[in-house]
Amino acid sequence: MSTLDGKVAIVTGGASGIGRATALLFAREGAKVVVADLDGAGAEAVAEAAGGVAVQADVSDPADCERIVRTATETYGGLHVLFNNAGIIRRTTALDIDVEEWDRVMAVNVRSVFLMCKYAIPAMSGGGSIVNTGSGWGLKGGGNALSYCASKAAVVNMTRALAIDHAKAGIRVNSVNPGDTDTPMLREEAKQLNEDWAAFEKDAADRPMGRSGTPDEIAQAVLFLASDAASYITGSALVVDGGGLA
Ligand code: NAD
Repeated sequence: MSTLDGKVAIVTGGASGIGRATALLFAREGAKVVVADLDGAGAEAVAEAAGGVAVQADVSDPADCERIVRTATETYGGLHVLFNNAGIIRRTTALDIDVEEWDRVMAVNVRSVFLMCKYAIPAMSGGGSIVNTGSGWGLKGGGNALSYCASKAAVVNMTRALAIDHAKAGIRVNSVNPGDTDTPMLREEAKQLNEDWAAFEKDAADRPMGRSGTPDEIAQAVLFLASDAASYITGSALVVDGGGLA
């Protein structure tokens, strides 16, 4: 038997990077997967590879979040796993981010987790597992990333509060907190800082394991938290960063 046989899973931000790797891993482990992303064509491509369904959606929008959950329950008859992973970054300080950009980072990274939980938890009638993507920068500060650091700290602590509120309903809620992981987002960060990719790679080389993580390495941690192997783990913040935070 595979780890997620018979389970229905939603992956937000599933078109790219960590979400894509996780959607494909969940499918290999037997789950029926709903791939939700702002990038509809990207979501379709991953859903096709995963044998699942795609939803083009903005996770900061309540109606879209409700529709993602409805797609899972109407297509597959239930919901067991929710991976709240969609996110954006702005490499800016308090002085150079404008108010609209601040609000957008908070809406995509934080409000989305609340909204998806609001609609998904009632659908997890037999219990379930929610994994939220935090970040190393949800657990410590980082330069030129004020809104992102604030948003990811909110995700980490919201995870703990959700875990307490829904433990007795058999719903576990944990965060996975990646360090630098080689995805389109990390390459976009280099662009926002006007740095070349080599500077980012040098940064990674200075850390304990001397490299960035791969999307698959994060996906394996998400799979563990999503699965029954983590049956007594809730409210935790699992760090997957090659020793960076240490
Ligand atoms: P990515 O850019 O490759 O993937 C993010 C996906 O989210 C994209 O497909 C994008 O279209 C989607 N998305 C963005 N806004 C959305 C919205 N409003 N509604 C629906 N989908 C939306 O990035 P990634 O590196 O795979 O990031 C995944 C998560 O991991 C994010 O929450 C990110 O903050 C977090 N993270 C990444 C790193 C890293 O180094 N890559 C480190 C720590 C945490």
